[in-house]
Amino acid sequence: CGVFGIFNNADAAKHTALGLHALQHRGQEAAGIVSYDDTQFNAYRDAGHVGDIFSSPERMRRLEGHCAIGHNRYSTSGDTVIRNVQPLFAEMDFGGFAVAHNGNLTNARKLRRELVRRGSLFQSTTDTEVVIHLMATAPAHTVIERLIHALKQIEGAYSFTALTDSELIGVRDPLGVRPLVLGTLGDSYILASETCALDIIGADFVRDIEPGEMVVIDKEGLRSLRPFPRQRQRMCVFEYIYFSRPDSQIEGTSVYEARKRIGAELAREKETHADLVVPVPDSGVPAAIGYSNQANIPFELGIVRNHYVGRTFIEPTDSIRHLGVKLKHNANSALLRGKRVVLVDDSIVRGTTSAKIVNMVRQAGAAEVHMRIAAPPTRHPCFYGIDTPDESELLAARFDVDGMAEEIGCDTLAFISDDGLYRAMGYPKRNALQPQFCDACFTGEYPIRLTDQVEGESRQ
Ligand code: SF4
Ligand code: MG
Repeated sequence: CGVFGIFNNADAAKHTALGLHALQHRGQEAAGIVSYDDTQFNAYRDAGHVGDIFSSPERMRRLEGHCAIGHNRYSTSGDTVIRNVQPLFAEMDFGGFAVAHNGNLTNARKLRRELVRRGSLFQSTTDTEVVIHLMATAPAHTVIERLIHALKQIEGAYSFTALTDSELIGVRDPLGVRPLVLGTLGDSYILASETCALDIIGADFVRDIEPGEMVVIDKEGLRSLRPFPRQRQRMCVFEYIYFSRPDSQIEGTSVYEARKRIGAELAREKETHADLVVPVPDSGVPAAIGYSNQANIPFELGIVRNHYVGRTFIEPTDSIRHLGVKLKHNANSALLRGKRVVLVDDSIVRGTTSAKIVNMVRQAGAAEVHMRIAAPPTRHPCFYGIDTPDESELLAARFDVDGMAEEIGCDTLAFISDDGLYRAMGYPKRNALQPQFCDACFTGEYPIRLTDQVEGESRQ
């Protein structure tokens, strides 16, 4: 998901809509904005894309106020229904509270069971709602104390933006798995999942919110709180590989440059003789450029993407996912005929897209198809906010690399190694005892306890 927040701006909701538009790649199912206009909170949420939901001037006029938060949703927890669309909002004894969440809580089901037993009435099925009930029942006075009380009970990955009648709040989980950045625009403060959401409104990037940090922005300015003991950061490495936009900077690293370096490392790790390097667009493009430069094989756009179709992976149902692949890509046969092709993509999940693309490139007359993947094999699901399917559907959990090559139908298949990925990210290798990133979908080493998973299994 994508989150955004702005404090002290005459066009708070408009800037939020623009920020969400820049973060559209992080969630395309639904979006929402909550603003505060000094007397009341105003909210609008709907299914669909930001540009469609917030295009009506009438609707935007009603989102009055000088501060606002917004959210782009793609579901990693809870059904695709309107009452799950964020920001969530609750009237509490201290006033209104709105919250938008990127990530996934790994003990939300356990907490929900306990809260329900104590009388909490849930209105949605999202994991995020436990935060509101934990705050409502907290033995504390101020909003901030209540929020900290709630944060100390939740486990998982989260970047939150939250809004009260006097504060904009941003929080990152203690390991900093999901990104969150701080920016300014004149006298306004901004919080956003990625720097590309600052760029779109001409805001200046100030810094990343630190892992375990809470920032509270009010009329007096910005305060930084540290509710958690300091821990070593475990930023999601998949944000660099696929999820974030290539024009964003995360923790001082350009996502685009990181992808190019991963592509170069991939070429270094396994020499391949070929005539062309062709990216699977758009996600494979930066890695393919890095690969082509390193291997000294020409980069060509051998597959053309139709931009009027959303990301196939993110669409929630299988039928749409399959249709999407056919709608989305076409091979450039004039270029590919008779050629030995290196196909570069960012990752393989189910393998269905890859199999169709390889088949398409062969149909277009390619002599050989060598698939190179700018991530290690995705063998494990993500429980921290990226919507990977169940382990049983992951191609790399079902087959070894040769078996995967056979399933996909390519002549050879190679993935970047774990250490190669870390080298590309600027480390000598993966620190086996204390990895520098979360890489659990590749290694199976989950840095945050999976309470609901473990309890779920023991109940069955
Ligand atoms: Fe990112 Fe993978 Fe960790 Fe999920 S499991 S947070 S996708 S690195
Ligand atoms: Mg892709």
